[in-house]
Amino acid sequence: MGIEEKLPAGILLTSVEKLVNWSRKSSVWGATFGLACCAIEMMAAGGPHYDMGRWGMEVFRASPRQADLMIVAGRVSQKMAPVLRQIYDQMAEPRWVLSMGVCASSGGMFNNYAIVQGVDHVVPVDMYLPGCPPRPEMLIDAILKLREKIMHEPLGPNGRRMLEARKERGDVP
Ligand code: SF4
Repeated sequence: MGIEEKLPAGILLTSVEKLVNWSRKSSVWGATFGLACCAIEMMAAGGPHYDMGRWGMEVFRASPRQADLMIVAGRVSQKMAPVLRQIYDQMAEPRWVLSMGVCASSGGMFNNYAIVQGVDHVVPVDMYLPGCPPRPEMLIDAILKLREKIMHEPLGPNGRRMLEARKERGDVP
């Protein structure tokens, strides 16, 4: 008989890591930060029709210090890159970055000197979302996948590195 079966009703067993990650993934607050046309779809996703509040993320924070998720919605100009990096640096750990749309991920159609050819040259990216522009449903799907990733993230400063190692071993999807 497993230990769970010996417990009285109403008692659950879990680990601190799972509990912390569950609370983190249940309140991923986005930074108010839009760069181009993709941001219009991001705003639509935050509205009542798509209702991201279902996943505890109805609030976009004006202060990066209160935000957990940076959605890079649109192409990143060379002039904007240092500002983007500064906002990222002001966000407290743990923080996540979602690259929304082909322009943010690779420069897209803007293959020229004025546009950064992928925001991962400026900040580490946790989730890439293709499309031009990705629809709100696609953004929500990417956020749900990011939530799954957060659920498996080991605690501590080396958490992300440990997550990659776990993935290589095939312990997490
Ligand atoms: Fe605009 Fe398309 Fe680029 Fe998004 S991916 S910023 S919609 S051109």
